[in-house]
Amino acid sequence: MIVELVSTGTELLLGQIVNTNAPFLAARLNELGFSVIYQTTVGDNRERMKNVLKTALDRADIVITSGGLGPTQGDITKEVTASLLNRSMYLHEVSAERIKRFFDERRICMPGNNLRQAMMPEGAIVVDNTCGTAPGVIIENQTTGKVIIHLPGPPHELSAMFEMSIVPYLKERFGVQGVIVSKVLRTYGLGESALEEKIKEYILSQSNPTLALLARNGEIHVRITARAENEIEARRLIDELEGHIRPHINEYVFGIDDETLEKSVGNLLLAKDLTIALAESCTGGLVTSRITDVPGSSSYLIGSIVCYSNAVKITSVGVPEEIIAVKGAVSQEAAESMAQGIRKQFSTGIGIAVTGIAGPTGATNDKPVGLVYIAIDGPAGTVCHQHYFNGTRTDIKHRTALAALNHLRQ
Ligand code: ATP
Ligand code: MG
Repeated sequence: MIVELVSTGTELLLGQIVNTNAPFLAARLNELGFSVIYQTTVGDNRERMKNVLKTALDRADIVITSGGLGPTQGDITKEVTASLLNRSMYLHEVSAERIKRFFDERRICMPGNNLRQAMMPEGAIVVDNTCGTAPGVIIENQTTGKVIIHLPGPPHELSAMFEMSIVPYLKERFGVQGVIVSKVLRTYGLGESALEEKIKEYILSQSNPTLALLARNGEIHVRITARAENEIEARRLIDELEGHIRPHINEYVFGIDDETLEKSVGNLLLAKDLTIALAESCTGGLVTSRITDVPGSSSYLIGSIVCYSNAVKITSVGVPEEIIAVKGAVSQEAAESMAQGIRKQFSTGIGIAVTGIAGPTGATNDKPVGLVYIAIDGPAGTVCHQHYFNGTRTDIKHRTALAALNHLRQ
């Protein structure tokens, strides 16, 4: 089955947003055994969109669009399809009720034009949107057997709708055989190409299972996907390949599937029955924020101080004035003293401190932007790690938080 993906939205053409919907759909469809052979992007213009959809329906069996299902005048995808297929539009009452309820539950007065989202081409299969208001649409052409599917633009709405409704639909309609199972090994500490180098022979020789590397927010995910008659067989194939690649990358793997770095830190603290407190300077609370992303983190996280100014480093976590004066606030000595101070103050098993120069200003001759010290004080003493991160201020903060979480695992 041949698929064409059509991404709609003038903001994509203007380069204002990055198209993440098409790669997501392409990867998932390929896993499911569909061939994505065209990807097109078109703006919110009726004439051009109609031409693109016409061409797509000529050369593909299944056309999947993203975007333009919302309530505004620029959201025209369904109308264009209706006009292309000579179908009229009608108000789908169930969707209209659902949209009204969505606003009622949030105590918001519904703008009248929101009902546009409940207008459907005649004969369409309406697909629930569990994360937003705009329903999805499936239109089957009984004569040609071709299908056009409209999904909403916001990525979290699109992916949820795809997994929950479109995958079952495609399987039923086009008879996808067997099961497809994926397992993700989440790694940190090695770049994409260095990691690829380590498992190159398995990437080059892959067929089933397939092996893919995906960079995600500073982590590299190694995804193993197997296709088989049943789940047990798919898992067996995955285990076999994992057994081969694990020895090469094991030290970098911190979690499986949806296990984040902060979750793996939390699990470790729970297993060791340790509590933690943080003193953060350049990250402004980012490490603490990530730790609190984990439900149940209150059983090990005691507290945190954002000690940004020198004065607060001295008064709140007890960094000696002479360390700040002689070595500076961004120094190994300051980081170690902050970690010891916060641990003592909150009486925790672990104290961790972060201090660095996030830039773009603040660098000196011997202390460049990106210089960061991460110190951890625990039962076995104090260790300090020095890093030189690159990137923007936001990148440096983000990379520091990742590194801090990773050091907590070690
Ligand atoms: P809405 O109800 O929010 O208007 P919609 O289905 O009409 O949704 P669009 O208006 O096209 O979708 O896009 C809404 C937002 O979704 C965009 O501003 C953008 O943030 C995001 N978005 C749309 N298309 C893509 C895409 N291909 N990749 C990533 N993000 C996208
Ligand atoms: Mg819109």
